[in-house]
Amino acid sequence: MKPDGYDAESLFEKYGGLAYDDINILPGHISFALDDVSLATRLTRRINLQLPIVSSPMDTVTESSMAIGLALLGGIGIIHYNNTVEQQCEHVRRVKRFENGFITDPVVLSPDHRIADVDRIKKEHGYSGIPVTEDGTLNTRLVGIVTNRDIDFERDRTKPLREVMTTDLVTAPKGITLREANRILRQSKKGKLPIVDAQGRLVSLVARTDLRKNEDYPLATKGADKQLLVGAAISTRDPDRERLAELVKQRADVIVIDSSQGDSVHQIRMIEHIKANYPQLDVVAGNVVTRRQCQHLMDAGADALRIGMGPGSICITQVTTAIGRAQASAVYACARAAHERGIPVIADGGITSSGHICKALALGGDTVMLGYLLAGTVEAPGEYFYEGNVRVKRYRGMGSIEAQLEGGDKRYFSQTTRIPVPHGVSGTVVDRGSLTTFIPYLVQGVRDSMQKTGCRDLPALHAALASGDLRFEPRSTSAQIEGNVHGLHSFKEPTLPTR
Ligand code: GDP
Ligand code: GDP
Ligand code: 5GP
Repeated sequence: MKPDGYDAESLFEKYGGLAYDDINILPGHISFALDDVSLATRLTRRINLQLPIVSSPMDTVTESSMAIGLALLGGIGIIHYNNTVEQQCEHVRRVKRFENGFITDPVVLSPDHRIADVDRIKKEHGYSGIPVTEDGTLNTRLVGIVTNRDIDFERDRTKPLREVMTTDLVTAPKGITLREANRILRQSKKGKLPIVDAQGRLVSLVARTDLRKNEDYPLATKGADKQLLVGAAISTRDPDRERLAELVKQRADVIVIDSSQGDSVHQIRMIEHIKANYPQLDVVAGNVVTRRQCQHLMDAGADALRIGMGPGSICITQVTTAIGRAQASAVYACARAAHERGIPVIADGGITSSGHICKALALGGDTVMLGYLLAGTVEAPGEYFYEGNVRVKRYRGMGSIEAQLEGGDKRYFSQTTRIPVPHGVSGTVVDRGSLTTFIPYLVQGVRDSMQKTGCRDLPALHAALASGDLRFEPRSTSAQIEGNVHGLHSFKEPTLPTR
């Protein structure tokens, strides 16, 4: 029997440039439960994720709160660079410090420091459990620890720590495994476990809160040191080599070279610079939409490719310049070229529903990059305000005139021209609540879709795509109308039950 629909190659050959909304995925055979679906994937050659979701490096989408929230849930955030090097590094630092195994460079004070110093650290960094050493450095003996409980009712904030700190300490010896340290910490019922060497000097600290975080977020994207992974974006320009060097010092885990047209000598030079100087650092190159562009960036050493030119919700590149490609076609073509060389791709832009995520993955995307869908969450930068009676947040393209005036033009090669060409617009998006409720809702939609295709995980989905077992059909305009709500006198948009 001839199978229904088309394999992806024939579909795109026959119908040309298609958007996500132009296609349907035909169902497969279900042989497993929804809970058996795995969304584990690859972001780059060396970085794996449990969820295929990446937040876009835009100044209304990703700073530290977004990157922390997404990494806890199994995705990853890419910190934008429409700011100073110091500001971008501070966001990276906050993500890296959020969760730890052994905290190897804990903030310490001396017995002569005052309670006010703890208040200052609490305000700056968010924690108040501070080990006290003889001279306030890691080079001398640990003599106590000061925690919130030692100081919360103390009126006189000028009191020295020697008068309030706890000196009866449970410690563990240097060289202990994290598993053993965690066991002692659980038994001691204390908030912190200082690790000391044979001379009694503080080596590191383990925090009880981190055990909790590990229990609460089993899918979190973490390195061997148990710190969350985070990405950072840079432009292709030479001065950003310094930005890159600082980001590497802060231990950013992946660098995204942000360019609206990635196939340029500037980008190739930047990739080569990164590969020559930081061979351990994975680099995402882009944006690209054709196979030839992909080849150039892979030849230069890209560890992943970012696909999309023009599909973004805030984007007007195709209007302004006529250059770009319909996103479903771009993702399929580029994923195919990249997978031949073992390189993963990020489907970037144009995603407004869990169905679009499914289509991006089914066409070969290894991850999706979201701007629009995340810009209205609590974790995105900026405050909520009301437009009429709708609660909204600002969302703007990095090529919008507003963002360009603040530095976003680096993505659009306009350094030598004085007239800014708009590549994006500035607008608002509706409140979507917190990532902690919104992402599980999106993810459940994707799992549901995977189950309906009959593919249990992304390798199976991509194998079915390559073999032609995964079938597609184009959607006519009336098929699109039929596939959405129609004919009702009125209806309510589905909202999340949690808000
Ligand atoms: P505290 O009791 O106020 O110190 O806060 P918690 O122990 O509840 O949480 C501290 C969080 O900050 C943990 O997730 C730590 O991993 C993290 N952290 C990162 N760097 C440091 C540091 O230098 N000192 C402390 N105390 N915590 C740190
Ligand atoms: P596995 O349990 O053999 O997979 O090894 P892991 O490296 O995942 O965990 C080793 C130990 O570290 C276990 O006791 C984990 O519960 C614990 N652990 C995992 N993540 C964290 C974390 O972020 N902080 C702390 N303090 N412990 C963690
Ligand atoms: P969205 O999720 O909003 O549909 O798309 C987000 C993506 O749009 C970003 O990841 C980025 O690739 C792209 N983008 C961000 N700002 C602009 C812009 O001003 N112009 C264009 N052409 N694309 C943009």
